[in-house]
Amino acid sequence: MSRSKEFEIGVLAGDGIGPEVSEATVEVLAEAAKRCGLGLRFVHALVGWKAREKFGNLLPDETMNALRKADAWIMGPTFAGEYPKDDHTKGHPSGYLRRTFKLFANIRPVQAWPQLDPLIPDLDITVLRENTEGFYPDRNLAWGYGEFKPTDDVALSLRVITGVACNRFARFAMEYASSSGVKRLHVVHKRTAMPQTEGLFIGAFEVLKPEFPDVELNLLRVDTFSSAFPRHHKEYRLVATTNLFGDILSDQASGLAGGVGLAASLNAGADHAMAQAVHGTAADIAGKGLANPAALILSAALLMRWLHQRTKVDAARAAAQMIEHAVGSAIRQGAVTTDLGGKATTAAFTKAVINELKSADALPV
Ligand code: ATP
Repeated sequence: MSRSKEFEIGVLAGDGIGPEVSEATVEVLAEAAKRCGLGLRFVHALVGWKAREKFGNLLPDETMNALRKADAWIMGPTFAGEYPKDDHTKGHPSGYLRRTFKLFANIRPVQAWPQLDPLIPDLDITVLRENTEGFYPDRNLAWGYGEFKPTDDVALSLRVITGVACNRFARFAMEYASSSGVKRLHVVHKRTAMPQTEGLFIGAFEVLKPEFPDVELNLLRVDTFSSAFPRHHKEYRLVATTNLFGDILSDQASGLAGGVGLAASLNAGADHAMAQAVHGTAADIAGKGLANPAALILSAALLMRWLHQRTKVDAARAAAQMIEHAVGSAIRQGAVTTDLGGKATTAAFTKAVINELKSADALPV
């Protein structure tokens, strides 16, 4: 891991439009880093089909070793379910990476953009989602499957909630609230129906209150939140919740913001983080130079925020702010890719973002 201001960033291009959007993202990150005096070194590694062709599996040792050494990485889209399931990742390299590197928090900021024709034009919310346990039967048991059917008429689903996972996630969320400037953190739960599991989750936040006097905690039932959120969205800027609720609420927010076209996300742990756009491989336009790299670029900005949260290197936060600002300005100035109704190619959009970075005033570091 970097001890100085130089960070090592892994680049996993992935499949479909992955190589195009990750190349654009590296160009933008490199320019922002230059402008902010932030040292970034990029290390490319293979994942997905190209890795399988060269090394025989989707996530070869070479890639895992490179990622272990890196501070963080950006990952282009990989297929969802189309890979053969005969290697150690069982056809899900992204899930394997989340589990292996204990990337326990998923950060999903949702912002409305006019190009997406949003239902709520000024929507701006970030959902922090616990990423490792809960109601996901394929991954919540060490052996066996967390959903089963003892008789034809009875089906059971197990939800696993542990103190360890709640504690590390709650600390992450409190730190995120404290360093993000949005000091009110809504902890969304359903303790009324599931007092033991939800009680563990909520308790993990409450115990941290004295350590984070600047964070205002608000406990909120998931049903109350869901009905109030569309009308009173300005009150809810930052939400922390368990895995399944987070999955649903972040997609609900994306729907109100006009879809997942520009949706960024970060999977973060204590030692590593992985920036990933929400969209998939878009195989229909792969290799045509039409892919919109904005979601991965915005995910990379989240990665810079995470580096700042973890290391307190202010240049990383400055780079994040610059990138977010540059993407917004480029789109407002008319650099709009075809998926959003414009004509810009991947290269033209990337150039527009880089021009915005070049003309931006240097932010105080
Ligand atoms: P996967 O099976 O990998 O999830 P998918 O095609 O089912 O892929 P997406 O990749 O999200 O799902 O694509 C849905 C539609 O949105 C496709 O028509 C695709 O071309 C388009 N699309 C998705 N992401 C982008 C992008 N970054 N730029 C341009 N178009 C995109």
